[in-house]
Amino acid sequence: MNGTVIICGAGPVGLVTALCLGRAGVSVCVLEKRETINVASRASTFHPPTLDILDRLGLLEPVRGRARVVRGAQYRTVAGPFARFAFDTLADLTAHPYRMHVEQAEIARAALEALERLPHVRLLFGADVLSVESAGGSAAVRFRHDGREQDRTADFVLVANGAGSALREGLGIGFDGRAYPGEVLRVITRASMAEYIPGLDGVTYLFDGNRSISLLEMHDCWRVILRPADAALAETRRDRAWVEAVLRDVLPPGIDMPPVDGWDLYRASRRLAERYAVGRVVLIGDVAHVTNTRGGMNMNCGIHDGCVVANAIVRALASGDAAPVPAAAERRHRVGATLLAERTDRSVGDLSRWAARVRAIADDPWEARAFLIETSMLDMIDREDIDAL
Ligand SMILES: Cc1cc2nc3c(=O)[nH]c(=O)nc-3n(C[C@H](O)[C@H](O)[C@H](O)COP(=O)(O)OP(=O)(O)OC[C@H]3O[C@@H](n4cnc5c(N)ncnc54)[C@H](O)[C@@H]3O)c2cc1C
Repeated sequence: MNGTVIICGAGPVGLVTALCLGRAGVSVCVLEKRETINVASRASTFHPPTLDILDRLGLLEPVRGRARVVRGAQYRTVAGPFARFAFDTLADLTAHPYRMHVEQAEIARAALEALERLPHVRLLFGADVLSVESAGGSAAVRFRHDGREQDRTADFVLVANGAGSALREGLGIGFDGRAYPGEVLRVITRASMAEYIPGLDGVTYLFDGNRSISLLEMHDCWRVILRPADAALAETRRDRAWVEAVLRDVLPPGIDMPPVDGWDLYRASRRLAERYAVGRVVLIGDVAHVTNTRGGMNMNCGIHDGCVVANAIVRALASGDAAPVPAAAERRHRVGATLLAERTDRSVGDLSRWAARVRAIADDPWEARAFLIETSMLDMIDREDIDAL
């Protein structure tokens, strides 16, 4: 197919989108300012529609050995589960009725390897994009590579360079929102949390009054994610003893302390770009939206953005009519504005009310199915966009 696309940023969203386009025969150039892809530990939850996309792109098989398939979600107190949801009830809607827990870097690495096999895809590392613009029937980027500034044009430019993007600012697109209060602590333990708290499912939310922790099973460890109390955050010493004390405070009393094999603290924000497209330049992924990490939706949503926009670009290049592209950007903006942040926010705030609501939902099979569809993001992307890949 004739047609060129430049993608700014080789994060998971940029790379998966490059593969959607490259497999359709579009000539793609990915510009990444780092010297290699980012392998830092970040997202781990991949929801069913994202798995459908990744499978179509051939990205699931390479990572299966380093992934954990999670078939059920559990909500519980110290006394035991009060709600359980089985993902296999979604089998009529997805080829992957489960969550997969795997490091986002594994998917990025698999995408990179697949892209390297496509002769019409170019990956340029150490290429810092300085500006992007839409001009008439094409779009242009200026980037610095090997100490030299260069210009390149394409039919479309996709900006996928993450939340802190100066390119978005350069396009004059606002990114309004707010930071969530406090910080999030993510603890890694190589021990099996199911040996400490028997009966856990691979994703478990443990409620204790108005506090909650998330327990996620990875293939070689567990992640325990929590919001430390204000008093703990007021302490300036953030060493292992601090992490252990914070963890002790949220784990059920009387259980042994699991080993702490790693941790990180991060802040989360909720922000949305005021629009996703300027002419032939489109924002996808974190540059367009960020939200609470609870529920693990932001990167999944970014991959959906990329897939939908890539399909629209393929249609536009085939027909010579660019109109599907801004329409796709507008559809994705609606998802970000009406579904994404609101959905990840409902499980923060008044947690005892939320726990009571989940308990009621689990008791009603119709509501439980609707809840699973929403938490699995199956209503956030149209089936045709997945099937078109
Ligand atoms: C602890 C943690 C846990 C998370 N868990 C989940 C989860 O379970 N599920 C989920 O869906 N999401 C989760 N997220 C969010 C997820 O990590 C992000 O949504 C995801 O990384 C976004 O991907 P991206 O490709 O849009 O952006 P990024 O991953 O930020 O990648 C952007 C890329 O662009 C490059 N770049 C930047 N500027 C330039 C430039 N000027 N020129 C060229 N390249 C540039 C960067 O170097 C980078 O490689 C989590 C986040 C954190 C911090």
